[in-house]
Amino acid sequence: IQNVSKTYQSTGRTLTVLDNINFSVESGTTMSIVGPSGSGKTTLLGLCAGLDRSSTGSIQLHNVKLDDLSEDQRAQVRNQYVGFIFQNFQLMPTLTALENVMVPMELRGERKIKPIAMDLLEKVGLADRAHHYPAQLSGGEQQRVSLARAFSNKPRILFADEPTGSLDAETSEKVIDLIFGLNKEAGTTLVLVTHDNDLASKTKRIIRIKGGKIVADEPQAPTLKGEESQH
Ligand code: ATP
Repeated sequence: IQNVSKTYQSTGRTLTVLDNINFSVESGTTMSIVGPSGSGKTTLLGLCAGLDRSSTGSIQLHNVKLDDLSEDQRAQVRNQYVGFIFQNFQLMPTLTALENVMVPMELRGERKIKPIAMDLLEKVGLADRAHHYPAQLSGGEQQRVSLARAFSNKPRILFADEPTGSLDAETSEKVIDLIFGLNKEAGTTLVLVTHDNDLASKTKRIIRIKGGKIVADEPQAPTLKGEESQH
């Protein structure tokens, strides 16, 4: 991410949401982005994942420069490399849990995807909810479906926006285990946005953002992160 800014035009004024952001993320690492509400965390995550375009600056993801790509091309890059867990889940309401998990695989033209999607739901403890629609699932269950969907393309990098935000302690622990398991077993890079200090302390690096600027970029001391002992 080089010199990245994001501005919005609103009622004739320019609102700068991200202001000259610079950092790079080592492949296979884990990091968190923390900061107060409205500081630009979700916006930054969306830019990193190619969901949105920056106003200025340059973003490169796995050697692909996102800046000049069309919407379709960015979607292809996302399908190939990226898993994304949204703050508000963003499941498709007219599809069942199973069908939601199958969507990214269908988009990649994969075959025999139903058993794979079932396995993913089993992994997040939701095999018995496979045929439920999002409205028939609790918030935590929806979050786990979105996790199974994010895992379905074996992402090289997983972006997660408040992955434990709406979960109780027990479900939250399960979700954290699944996310860090992906890093440990498959070397998936993790970039998490979180208000949860406990979760942030499990990652190897914390970027603090305030008013759209990076105010601290801290590697975590091994004794603090607790990652080895717990995951
Ligand atoms: P939270 O912790 O509350 O989720 P955040 O740090 O993730 O907050 P963002 O969602 O990135 O913050 O929003 C940063 C700022 O950008 C906010 O002030 C928000 O109102 C503004 N913003 C986001 N999207 C738009 C948009 N489409 N148009 C105008 N302003 C926007």
